[in-house]
Amino acid sequence: MRKTSPDVLPAEGGLGNEPLLALEDLHVEFGTRAGIVRAVNGVSYTLDSGETLAVLGESGSGKSVTAQAIMGILDMPPARIPKGEIRFRGTDLLKLSEEARTQVRGQRIAMIFQDALSALNPVFTVGWQISEMFRVHRGMSKRDGMAKAVELMDKVRIPAARQRLNDYPHQFSGGMRQRIMIAMAIALDPEVLIADEPTTALDVTVQAQIMELLAELQRESNMGMILITHDLGVVADVADKIAVMYGGRIVENALVHDIYKAPAHPYTKGLLESIPRVDLKGQELYAIKGLPPNLLDMPPGCAFHPRCPYRQDNCVTDVPPLYEISGTRNSACHYWREVLDGDNR
Ligand code: SF4
Repeated sequence: MRKTSPDVLPAEGGLGNEPLLALEDLHVEFGTRAGIVRAVNGVSYTLDSGETLAVLGESGSGKSVTAQAIMGILDMPPARIPKGEIRFRGTDLLKLSEEARTQVRGQRIAMIFQDALSALNPVFTVGWQISEMFRVHRGMSKRDGMAKAVELMDKVRIPAARQRLNDYPHQFSGGMRQRIMIAMAIALDPEVLIADEPTTALDVTVQAQIMELLAELQRESNMGMILITHDLGVVADVADKIAVMYGGRIVENALVHDIYKAPAHPYTKGLLESIPRVDLKGQELYAIKGLPPNLLDMPPGCAFHPRCPYRQDNCVTDVPPLYEISGTRNSACHYWREVLDGDNR
């Protein structure tokens, strides 16, 4: 981790017009035996208090690596951040010492992981694990910590919370385990909550309940939320804006209703068309042809060109910049106008 100046912890309550969180031209790469994997290539986005940003993309698009860089939980090495800034309330987290980052991680920026069963410790009761947050970070007694754990379990609507305090993670269903993870993540009132595919392992009904719970908790506390997902279907009701990632870059960002109304990048269009629709019963499900790019051997020009129905000759040679469509919208496609106009290919 780079550190060039004495630690100045991010100001409580913010600094002037600075967003709550701002990523600026972030690059993350991994040194491997086969070569350098450039997992994140110049990602920039902002998040304000009370706002939900959905970061969308297939596996390997760089969305989770970006989140891990924000949390400061990447193994460095092999990971390296050669360039970029992660400003939290105006302070670049990449310039803080590890000690100072520990004060931010889990307390002011918290994360919910995809697989609650492997993220929770199987040998400790859930009450112990939730109360540990208060014992370690707030210096509470075991008894007071346990009382807070019951409060939080009630808040995330785990039935009979007091009676279940001494149960182990394997004694809960997948949905209930995810609620326990959420309880741990919100325990210290974080200002930013990163939810990395929080509903992927759950069935559709439980998915909806968890998304509803997250939205409700966010409204109550006004925290900023980054919701990482590969599924555009789950973000429509909860996100304010969307950043679509492909091959380590943002290829489109926009307000959520603009994206659903008319995508401005062929990849976003493909993702939207891949959402199963009940009114199209009996029809074959749409899938984007081809595979995500190999990060060790990225296609030249636009990384999406091998899969793109809009491809023209220059797409194979010229990397598209992130074109500004409006103050709230960008697309990294040379032919965004055609896509936006609904030209069907
Ligand atoms: Fe497709 Fe070309 Fe746009 Fe890339 S730049 S998304 S290949 S049309």
